[in-house]
Amino acid sequence: MSVVGHRKTKIVCTLGPATDSPAGIAGLIAAGMDVVRLNFSHGDREQHRATIRRIREVARAAGRDIAILQDLGGPKIRLGTLPDAGVVLETGGTVELAPEGRAPAGTLPVSYPYLVEDSRPGETILLADGAAELEILEVRADRLVCRVVNGGLLTSRKGVNLPQADLRVAAVTDKDLADLEVGLAEGVDLVALSFVRHEDDLGPIRSRLAGIPRPPLVIAKIEKPQAVDRLASIIAAVDGVMVARGDLGVEMPPEKVPLIQKRIIEAARRAGRPVITATQMLRSMVDSPRPLRAEASDIANAVLDGTDALMLSEETAIGRYPVEAVSMLDRVAGEAESHLDHLRLADLPAAVGRPDVSAAISRAACELADAIGAAAIVTTTTSGGTARLIARHRPPVPVLGIASSDAVARQLRLSWGVIPIAAAETADVASLVGLVRRELAARDLAEPGDHVVIAAGLPLGFSDSASLLQIRRLE
Ligand code: PGA
Ligand code: MN
Repeated sequence: MSVVGHRKTKIVCTLGPATDSPAGIAGLIAAGMDVVRLNFSHGDREQHRATIRRIREVARAAGRDIAILQDLGGPKIRLGTLPDAGVVLETGGTVELAPEGRAPAGTLPVSYPYLVEDSRPGETILLADGAAELEILEVRADRLVCRVVNGGLLTSRKGVNLPQADLRVAAVTDKDLADLEVGLAEGVDLVALSFVRHEDDLGPIRSRLAGIPRPPLVIAKIEKPQAVDRLASIIAAVDGVMVARGDLGVEMPPEKVPLIQKRIIEAARRAGRPVITATQMLRSMVDSPRPLRAEASDIANAVLDGTDALMLSEETAIGRYPVEAVSMLDRVAGEAESHLDHLRLADLPAAVGRPDVSAAISRAACELADAIGAAAIVTTTTSGGTARLIARHRPPVPVLGIASSDAVARQLRLSWGVIPIAAAETADVASLVGLVRRELAARDLAEPGDHVVIAAGLPLGFSDSASLLQIRRLE
Protein backbone atom coordinates (compact mmCIF):
# COMPACT_ATOMS: atom_id res chain seq x y z
CA MET A 1 0.00 0.00 0.00
CA SER A 2 2.83 2.37 0.61
CA VAL A 3 4.34 2.30 -2.86
CA VAL A 4 4.72 5.91 -3.98
CA GLY A 5 1.85 6.78 -6.30
CA HIS A 6 -0.57 4.17 -4.91
CA ARG A 7 -1.09 5.79 -1.52
CA LYS A 8 -4.44 7.57 -1.48
CA THR A 9 -3.87 10.08 1.33
CA LYS A 10 -1.92 13.02 -0.08
CA ILE A 11 1.23 14.52 1.43
CA VAL A 12 1.87 18.28 1.70
CA CYS A 13 5.42 19.38 2.62
CA THR A 14 6.51 22.83 3.73
CA LEU A 15 9.71 24.00 2.06
CA GLY A 16 12.34 25.79 4.14
CA PRO A 17 16.07 26.11 4.62
CA ALA A 18 16.43 22.33 5.05
CA THR A 19 14.91 21.55 1.64
CA ASP A 20 14.82 24.67 -0.55
CA SER A 21 17.37 23.45 -3.06
CA PRO A 22 17.12 21.34 -6.24
CA ALA A 23 18.37 18.28 -4.36
CA GLY A 24 16.10 18.97 -1.39
CA ILE A 25 13.00 19.30 -3.57
CA ALA A 26 13.94 16.24 -5.62
CA GLY A 27 14.32 14.24 -2.40
CA LEU A 28 10.85 15.19 -1.18
CA ILE A 29 9.30 14.38 -4.57
CA ALA A 30 11.00 11.00 -4.68
CA ALA A 31 9.77 10.24 -1.15
CA GLY A 32 6.15 10.92 -2.16
CA MET A 33 5.35 14.62 -1.75
CA ASP A 34 2.20 15.57 -3.69
CA VAL A 35 1.91 19.26 -2.79
CA VAL A 36 4.63 21.68 -1.73
CA ARG A 37 3.71 24.52 0.65
CA LEU A 38 5.47 27.87 0.59
CA ASN A 39 4.95 29.71 3.86
CA PHE A 40 4.72 33.43 3.00
CA SER A 41 4.91 34.35 6.70
CA HIS A 42 8.64 33.95 6.22
CA GLY A 43 11.05 34.91 3.47
CA ASP A 44 10.85 37.65 0.88
CA ARG A 45 8.89 37.70 -2.34
CA GLU A 46 11.80 37.39 -4.76
CA GLN A 47 13.11 34.42 -2.85
CA HIS A 48 9.69 32.74 -3.10
CA ARG A 49 9.53 33.54 -6.82
CA ALA A 50 12.87 31.83 -7.36
CA THR A 51 11.73 28.86 -5.28
CA ILE A 52 8.54 28.42 -7.34
CA ARG A 53 10.59 28.36 -10.55
CA ARG A 54 13.02 25.89 -8.99
CA ILE A 55 10.16 23.59 -7.94
CA ARG A 56 8.68 23.58 -11.45
CA GLU A 57 12.07 22.76 -12.95
CA VAL A 58 12.82 19.94 -10.54
CA ALA A 59 9.31 18.49 -10.91
CA ARG A 60 9.63 18.56 -14.70
CA ALA A 61 12.97 16.75 -14.51
CA ALA A 62 11.45 14.18 -12.13
CA GLY A 63 8.42 13.69 -14.39
CA ARG A 64 6.04 14.34 -11.45
CA ASP A 65 4.01 17.48 -11.75
CA ILE A 66 3.41 18.41 -8.10
CA ALA A 67 1.09 21.20 -6.91
CA ILE A 68 2.30 24.41 -5.27
CA LEU A 69 0.38 25.81 -2.29
CA GLN A 70 0.97 29.47 -1.51
CA ASP A 71 0.21 29.97 2.19
CA LEU A 72 -0.57 33.64 2.92
CA GLY A 73 0.29 34.75 6.46
CA GLY A 74 -2.93 36.71 7.08
CA PRO A 75 -3.27 39.03 10.07
CA LYS A 76 -0.88 37.26 12.43
CA ILE A 77 0.09 39.37 15.44
CA ARG A 78 3.73 39.17 16.45
CA LEU A 79 6.18 40.44 19.00
CA GLY A 80 8.41 43.27 17.76
CA THR A 81 12.18 43.20 17.77
CA LEU A 82 13.66 41.95 21.04
CA PRO A 83 17.31 41.93 22.18
CA ASP A 84 19.36 39.26 20.36
CA ALA A 85 19.59 37.07 23.45
CA GLY A 86 15.78 37.16 23.77
CA VAL A 87 13.73 37.92 26.86
CA VAL A 88 13.16 35.37 29.62
CA LEU A 89 9.76 35.42 31.35
CA GLU A 90 9.74 33.92 34.85
CA THR A 91 6.60 32.00 35.84
CA GLY A 92 4.73 33.93 38.53
CA GLY A 93 6.37 37.26 37.61
CA THR A 94 4.81 40.19 35.77
CA VAL A 95 5.48 41.60 32.30
CA GLU A 96 4.18 44.64 30.43
CA LEU A 97 3.09 44.69 26.79
CA ALA A 98 2.50 47.72 24.55
CA PRO A 99 1.76 48.42 20.87
CA GLU A 100 4.87 48.33 18.65
CA GLY A 101 6.07 51.85 17.76
CA ARG A 102 4.60 53.29 20.98
CA ALA A 103 6.12 50.78 23.42
CA PRO A 104 7.69 52.51 26.47
CA ALA A 105 11.08 51.25 27.66
CA GLY A 106 10.79 47.97 29.53
CA THR A 107 7.60 46.81 27.78
CA LEU A 108 7.40 44.07 25.14
CA PRO A 109 6.33 45.47 21.75
CA VAL A 110 3.34 43.78 20.03
CA SER A 111 2.37 44.41 16.38
CA TYR A 112 -1.26 45.28 17.16
CA PRO A 113 -2.16 48.97 17.42
CA TYR A 114 -5.36 48.39 19.46
CA LEU A 115 -3.66 46.10 22.00
CA VAL A 116 -4.73 48.28 24.94
CA GLU A 117 -8.20 49.21 23.66
CA ASP A 118 -9.22 45.64 22.81
CA SER A 119 -7.96 43.88 25.94
CA ARG A 120 -9.77 43.24 29.25
CA PRO A 121 -8.41 42.17 32.62
CA GLY A 122 -8.64 38.40 33.06
CA GLU A 123 -8.08 37.59 29.38
CA THR A 124 -5.29 35.29 28.25
CA ILE A 125 -2.40 36.15 25.94
CA LEU A 126 -0.29 33.37 24.45
CA LEU A 127 3.19 33.94 23.12
CA ALA A 128 5.36 31.86 20.78
CA ASP A 129 2.70 29.23 19.86
CA GLY A 130 1.60 28.98 23.46
CA ALA A 131 5.10 28.39 24.85
CA ALA A 132 4.42 31.24 27.27
CA GLU A 133 1.04 32.19 28.75
CA LEU A 134 0.02 35.49 30.31
CA GLU A 135 -3.06 36.70 32.16
CA ILE A 136 -3.97 40.37 31.86
CA LEU A 137 -4.02 41.96 35.34
CA GLU A 138 -4.47 45.60 34.45
CA VAL A 139 -5.20 47.66 31.34
CA ARG A 140 -3.44 51.05 31.54
CA ALA A 141 -3.58 53.93 29.06
CA ASP A 142 -0.39 52.90 27.27
CA ARG A 143 0.25 49.27 28.24
CA LEU A 144 -1.04 45.96 29.60
CA VAL A 145 0.26 44.63 32.88
CA CYS A 146 0.23 40.83 32.83
CA ARG A 147 0.96 37.98 35.16
CA VAL A 148 3.23 35.27 33.72
CA VAL A 149 1.19 32.05 34.09
CA ASN A 150 3.81 30.01 32.23
CA GLY A 151 7.21 31.48 31.55
CA GLY A 152 9.68 30.87 28.75
CA LEU A 153 12.25 32.40 26.44
CA LEU A 154 10.91 34.86 23.86
CA THR A 155 12.72 35.98 20.75
CA SER A 156 11.95 38.59 18.08
CA ARG A 157 8.84 38.29 15.86
CA LYS A 158 7.34 35.31 17.69
CA GLY A 159 3.55 34.93 17.40
CA VAL A 160 1.08 36.55 19.80
CA ASN A 161 -2.41 35.07 20.18
CA LEU A 162 -5.26 36.96 21.87
CA PRO A 163 -7.93 34.25 21.78
CA GLN A 164 -10.68 36.16 23.60
CA ALA A 165 -10.27 39.54 21.91
CA ASP A 166 -12.46 40.65 19.01
CA LEU A 167 -9.58 41.85 16.85
CA ARG A 168 -9.81 44.84 14.53
CA VAL A 169 -7.59 43.42 11.80
CA ALA A 170 -8.06 43.25 8.06
CA ALA A 171 -8.63 39.59 7.15
CA VAL A 172 -6.41 39.95 4.10
CA THR A 173 -3.51 42.35 4.62
CA ASP A 174 -1.81 44.52 1.99
CA LYS A 175 1.17 42.20 2.30
CA ASP A 176 -1.06 39.20 1.55
CA LEU A 177 -2.36 40.88 -1.61
CA ALA A 178 1.16 41.79 -2.75
CA ASP A 179 2.29 38.21 -2.03
CA LEU A 180 -0.68 36.90 -4.01
CA GLU A 181 0.51 38.85 -7.07
CA VAL A 182 3.74 36.84 -7.03
CA GLY A 183 1.77 33.63 -6.66
CA LEU A 184 -0.50 34.49 -9.58
CA ALA A 185 2.38 35.64 -11.79
CA GLU A 186 4.18 32.36 -11.13
CA GLY A 187 1.04 30.24 -11.48
CA VAL A 188 0.61 28.67 -8.03
CA ASP A 189 -2.09 25.98 -7.88
CA LEU A 190 -3.56 26.59 -4.42
CA VAL A 191 -3.75 29.65 -2.18
CA ALA A 192 -4.36 29.35 1.57
CA LEU A 193 -5.37 32.19 3.87
CA SER A 194 -4.44 32.15 7.57
CA PHE A 195 -6.71 33.18 10.49
CA VAL A 196 -9.98 33.22 8.53
CA ARG A 197 -12.89 34.13 10.87
CA HIS A 198 -15.78 34.57 8.43
CA GLU A 199 -16.51 33.51 4.84
CA ASP A 200 -16.47 37.17 3.83
CA ASP A 201 -12.81 37.34 4.89
CA LEU A 202 -11.97 35.67 1.57
CA GLY A 203 -13.64 38.52 -0.38
CA PRO A 204 -10.51 40.43 -1.41
CA ILE A 205 -8.88 37.22 -2.67
CA ARG A 206 -12.02 36.16 -4.53
CA SER A 207 -12.26 39.58 -6.20
CA ARG A 208 -8.65 39.38 -7.30
CA LEU A 209 -9.19 35.88 -8.75
CA ALA A 210 -12.42 36.80 -10.55
CA GLY A 211 -11.98 36.50 -14.30
CA ILE A 212 -8.82 34.38 -14.17
CA PRO A 213 -9.61 31.34 -16.36
CA ARG A 214 -8.29 28.56 -14.09
CA PRO A 215 -7.66 30.33 -10.79
CA PRO A 216 -5.85 28.66 -7.90
CA LEU A 217 -8.10 26.81 -5.45
CA VAL A 218 -8.74 28.86 -2.30
CA ILE A 219 -8.13 27.13 1.03
CA ALA A 220 -9.30 28.55 4.37
CA LYS A 221 -7.08 27.72 7.33
CA ILE A 222 -9.34 26.92 10.28
CA GLU A 223 -7.38 28.15 13.30
CA LYS A 224 -9.70 30.64 15.06
CA PRO A 225 -12.66 29.82 17.32
CA GLN A 226 -14.82 32.15 15.20
CA ALA A 227 -14.06 29.98 12.13
CA VAL A 228 -15.04 26.81 13.98
CA ASP A 229 -18.36 28.49 14.83
CA ARG A 230 -18.99 29.32 11.15
CA LEU A 231 -17.60 26.11 9.72
CA ALA A 232 -20.49 25.26 7.39
CA SER A 233 -20.66 28.69 5.76
CA ILE A 234 -16.88 28.92 5.40
CA ILE A 235 -16.68 25.47 3.79
CA ALA A 236 -19.46 26.43 1.38
CA ALA A 237 -17.52 29.54 0.34
CA VAL A 238 -14.08 28.00 -0.30
CA ASP A 239 -12.51 25.21 -2.37
CA GLY A 240 -10.82 23.47 0.57
CA VAL A 241 -9.85 23.82 4.21
CA MET A 242 -6.92 23.16 6.49
CA VAL A 243 -7.21 21.93 10.07
CA ALA A 244 -4.43 24.28 11.27
CA ARG A 245 -3.82 22.61 14.61
CA GLY A 246 -0.84 24.79 15.55
CA ASP A 247 -2.76 27.99 16.05
CA LEU A 248 -6.06 26.22 16.72
CA GLY A 249 -4.49 24.56 19.78
CA VAL A 250 -3.37 27.96 21.05
CA GLU A 251 -6.57 29.84 20.28
CA MET A 252 -8.65 27.07 21.87
CA PRO A 253 -7.92 24.59 24.66
CA PRO A 254 -5.83 21.71 23.26
CA GLU A 255 -8.38 19.14 24.44
CA LYS A 256 -10.89 20.59 21.96
CA VAL A 257 -8.62 20.09 18.94
CA PRO A 258 -9.01 16.32 18.29
CA LEU A 259 -12.81 16.50 18.07
CA ILE A 260 -12.81 19.74 16.11
CA GLN A 261 -10.46 18.00 13.68
CA LYS A 262 -13.02 15.21 13.21
CA ARG A 263 -15.82 17.73 12.67
CA ILE A 264 -13.90 19.78 10.13
CA ILE A 265 -12.78 16.72 8.18
CA GLU A 266 -16.27 15.25 8.08
CA ALA A 267 -17.92 18.52 7.05
CA ALA A 268 -15.36 19.20 4.32
CA ARG A 269 -15.54 15.66 2.97
CA ARG A 270 -19.33 15.76 2.81
CA ALA A 271 -19.12 19.00 0.86
CA GLY A 272 -16.56 17.55 -1.57
CA ARG A 273 -13.89 20.05 -0.45
CA PRO A 274 -10.36 18.72 0.06
CA VAL A 275 -9.16 18.94 3.67
CA ILE A 276 -5.57 19.08 4.91
CA THR A 277 -4.69 18.03 8.48
CA ALA A 278 -1.68 20.06 9.56
CA THR A 279 0.98 20.66 12.19
CA GLN A 280 3.04 18.48 14.50
CA MET A 281 2.23 15.29 12.57
CA LEU A 282 5.85 14.17 13.07
CA ARG A 283 7.25 17.04 15.12
CA SER A 284 9.79 14.85 16.91
CA MET A 285 11.38 13.97 13.56
CA VAL A 286 12.81 17.49 13.38
CA ASP A 287 15.66 16.05 15.44
CA SER A 288 15.07 12.31 15.46
CA PRO A 289 15.03 9.72 12.67
CA ARG A 290 12.23 7.79 14.44
CA PRO A 291 8.77 9.14 15.28
CA LEU A 292 6.97 9.03 18.61
CA ARG A 293 4.39 6.25 18.79
CA ALA A 294 1.83 8.96 19.59
CA GLU A 295 2.70 10.64 16.28
CA ALA A 296 2.21 7.43 14.32
CA SER A 297 -1.18 7.05 16.01
CA ASP A 298 -2.09 10.65 15.24
CA ILE A 299 -1.32 10.18 11.53
CA ALA A 300 -3.34 6.97 11.38
CA ASN A 301 -6.26 8.61 13.17
CA ALA A 302 -6.31 11.57 10.79
CA VAL A 303 -6.48 9.10 7.90
CA LEU A 304 -9.29 7.17 9.61
CA ASP A 305 -11.10 10.48 10.21
CA GLY A 306 -11.10 10.76 6.40
CA THR A 307 -8.61 13.55 5.74
CA ASP A 308 -7.57 14.11 2.12
CA ALA A 309 -4.04 15.19 2.96
CA LEU A 310 -1.50 15.34 5.76
CA MET A 311 0.92 18.24 6.09
CA LEU A 312 4.48 18.50 7.38
CA SER A 313 5.79 21.88 8.57
CA GLU A 314 9.05 22.18 10.50
CA GLU A 315 9.70 18.50 9.77
CA THR A 316 10.55 19.32 6.16
CA ALA A 317 11.27 23.06 6.47
CA ILE A 318 13.99 23.01 9.11
CA GLY A 319 14.25 19.38 10.24
CA ARG A 320 17.26 17.13 10.07
CA TYR A 321 15.28 14.23 8.54
CA PRO A 322 12.93 15.70 5.92
CA VAL A 323 12.98 12.73 3.54
CA GLU A 324 12.64 10.24 6.38
CA ALA A 325 9.63 12.19 7.67
CA VAL A 326 7.88 11.98 4.27
CA SER A 327 8.64 8.25 4.02
CA MET A 328 7.28 7.69 7.51
CA LEU A 329 4.09 9.63 6.68
CA ASP A 330 3.77 7.59 3.49
CA ARG A 331 4.13 4.29 5.36
CA VAL A 332 1.85 5.09 8.30
CA ALA A 333 -0.85 6.61 6.08
CA GLY A 334 -0.63 3.70 3.62
CA GLU A 335 -1.10 1.19 6.42
CA ALA A 336 -4.04 3.09 7.97
CA GLU A 337 -5.77 3.39 4.59
CA SER A 338 -6.01 -0.35 4.22
CA HIS A 339 -8.27 -0.31 7.32
CA LEU A 340 -10.57 2.51 6.21
CA ASP A 341 -14.25 1.79 6.62
CA HIS A 342 -15.13 2.54 3.00
CA LEU A 343 -18.77 1.59 3.42
CA ARG A 344 -19.27 4.13 6.18
CA LEU A 345 -17.41 6.81 4.25
CA ALA A 346 -19.36 6.13 1.06
CA ASP A 347 -22.70 6.53 2.79
CA LEU A 348 -23.23 10.15 1.77
CA PRO A 349 -26.32 11.68 0.19
CA ALA A 350 -26.12 11.79 -3.61
CA ALA A 351 -26.41 15.57 -3.62
CA VAL A 352 -24.22 18.30 -2.20
CA GLY A 353 -26.90 20.84 -1.35
CA ARG A 354 -29.52 20.87 -4.10
CA PRO A 355 -30.03 17.97 -6.56
CA ASP A 356 -27.02 17.77 -8.80
CA VAL A 357 -26.45 15.44 -11.76
CA SER A 358 -22.66 15.28 -11.34
CA ALA A 359 -22.92 14.46 -7.65
CA ALA A 360 -25.49 11.73 -8.33
CA ILE A 361 -23.40 10.21 -11.14
CA SER A 362 -20.32 10.34 -8.91
CA ARG A 363 -22.06 8.42 -6.15
CA ALA A 364 -23.44 5.91 -8.64
CA ALA A 365 -19.93 5.44 -10.09
CA CYS A 366 -18.64 4.46 -6.66
CA GLU A 367 -21.52 2.04 -6.06
CA LEU A 368 -21.07 0.50 -9.50
CA ALA A 369 -17.32 0.11 -9.02
CA ASP A 370 -17.96 -1.68 -5.76
CA ALA A 371 -20.69 -3.90 -7.21
CA ILE A 372 -18.62 -5.17 -10.16
CA GLY A 373 -15.18 -5.13 -8.49
CA ALA A 374 -13.87 -2.54 -10.96
CA ALA A 375 -10.12 -1.86 -11.08
CA ALA A 376 -10.64 1.90 -11.17
CA ILE A 377 -13.08 4.76 -11.50
CA VAL A 378 -12.27 7.11 -14.35
CA THR A 379 -13.48 10.64 -14.73
CA THR A 380 -12.81 13.30 -17.31
CA THR A 381 -12.94 16.77 -15.87
CA THR A 382 -12.22 20.33 -16.92
CA SER A 383 -12.52 21.91 -13.46
CA GLY A 384 -11.64 18.92 -11.29
CA GLY A 385 -15.12 19.10 -9.80
CA THR A 386 -16.31 15.61 -10.77
CA ALA A 387 -13.10 14.00 -9.48
CA ARG A 388 -13.63 15.73 -6.12
CA LEU A 389 -17.27 14.60 -6.03
CA ILE A 390 -16.08 11.01 -6.50
CA ALA A 391 -13.27 11.39 -3.94
CA ARG A 392 -15.74 12.50 -1.24
CA HIS A 393 -17.02 8.91 -1.09
CA ARG A 394 -13.43 7.66 -0.46
CA PRO A 395 -13.80 4.67 -2.82
CA PRO A 396 -11.28 1.86 -2.22
CA VAL A 397 -10.27 1.74 -5.91
CA PRO A 398 -8.05 4.33 -7.61
CA VAL A 399 -9.76 7.30 -9.24
CA LEU A 400 -8.17 8.40 -12.51
CA GLY A 401 -8.84 12.12 -12.82
CA ILE A 402 -8.29 12.90 -16.47
CA ALA A 403 -8.01 16.66 -16.60
CA SER A 404 -8.00 18.80 -19.71
CA SER A 405 -5.21 21.01 -18.36
CA ASP A 406 -1.97 20.63 -16.41
CA ALA A 407 -3.19 23.21 -13.88
CA VAL A 408 -6.34 21.25 -13.00
CA ALA A 409 -4.38 17.99 -12.88
CA ARG A 410 -2.03 19.61 -10.36
CA GLN A 411 -4.93 20.84 -8.22
CA LEU A 412 -6.21 17.26 -8.04
CA ARG A 413 -2.94 16.26 -6.34
CA LEU A 414 -4.61 17.37 -3.11
CA SER A 415 -7.68 15.13 -3.45
CA TRP A 416 -7.85 11.77 -1.70
CA GLY A 417 -7.30 8.77 -3.96
CA VAL A 418 -7.20 10.76 -7.21
CA ILE A 419 -4.43 9.97 -9.67
CA PRO A 420 -4.42 13.06 -11.87
CA ILE A 421 -3.56 12.79 -15.53
CA ALA A 422 -3.43 15.74 -17.87
CA ALA A 423 -4.60 14.80 -21.35
CA ALA A 424 -6.11 16.95 -24.04
CA GLU A 425 -7.14 14.26 -26.53
CA THR A 426 -10.06 12.26 -25.21
CA ALA A 427 -12.11 12.71 -28.35
CA ASP A 428 -14.19 9.53 -27.98
CA VAL A 429 -14.78 6.82 -25.42
CA ALA A 430 -12.58 4.31 -27.31
CA SER A 431 -9.50 6.56 -27.17
CA LEU A 432 -10.29 7.38 -23.54
CA VAL A 433 -10.37 3.68 -22.70
CA GLY A 434 -7.03 3.23 -24.49
CA LEU A 435 -5.51 6.00 -22.41
CA VAL A 436 -6.94 4.50 -19.21
CA ARG A 437 -5.57 1.05 -20.07
CA ARG A 438 -2.07 2.46 -20.63
CA GLU A 439 -2.09 4.63 -17.48
CA LEU A 440 -3.39 1.84 -15.22
CA ALA A 441 -1.01 -0.75 -16.67
CA ALA A 442 1.95 1.61 -16.22
CA ARG A 443 1.11 1.76 -12.50
CA ASP A 444 0.36 -1.95 -12.18
CA LEU A 445 -3.23 -1.15 -11.24
CA ALA A 446 -5.07 -3.16 -13.91
CA GLU A 447 -4.75 -6.18 -16.15
CA PRO A 448 -6.50 -7.11 -19.40
CA GLY A 449 -10.01 -8.26 -18.58
CA ASP A 450 -10.44 -5.83 -15.68
CA HIS A 451 -13.38 -3.46 -15.73
CA VAL A 452 -13.40 0.27 -15.16
CA VAL A 453 -16.28 2.62 -14.43
CA ILE A 454 -16.23 5.82 -16.44
CA ALA A 455 -18.03 8.98 -15.28
CA ALA A 456 -17.68 11.65 -17.92
CA GLY A 457 -19.21 14.77 -19.32
CA LEU A 458 -20.36 15.11 -22.89
CA PRO A 459 -18.80 16.08 -25.17
CA LEU A 460 -15.81 14.24 -23.71
CA GLY A 461 -13.18 16.43 -22.18
CA PHE A 462 -15.06 19.67 -22.72
CA SER A 463 -17.62 19.58 -19.98
CA ASP A 464 -17.61 20.59 -16.35
CA SER A 465 -20.38 18.22 -15.35
CA ALA A 466 -20.74 14.46 -15.63
CA SER A 467 -23.73 13.01 -17.44
CA LEU A 468 -22.43 9.69 -18.80
CA LEU A 469 -21.76 6.55 -16.78
CA GLN A 470 -20.29 3.48 -18.51
CA ILE A 471 -18.65 0.21 -17.62
CA ARG A 472 -15.82 -0.78 -19.93
CA ARG A 473 -13.69 -3.91 -20.07
CA LEU A 474 -10.01 -3.31 -20.64
CA GLU A 475 -8.57 -5.39 -23.50
P1 PGA B 1 1.02 27.99 10.20
O1 PGA B 1 -0.40 27.32 10.00
O2 PGA B 1 2.05 26.91 10.18
O3 PGA B 1 1.12 28.92 9.06
O4 PGA B 1 0.89 28.68 11.51
C1 PGA B 1 -0.70 26.01 10.43
C2 PGA B 1 -1.16 25.94 11.87
O5 PGA B 1 -1.37 26.95 12.53
O6 PGA B 1 -1.34 24.78 12.31
MN1 MN C 1 -1.30 28.94 11.82
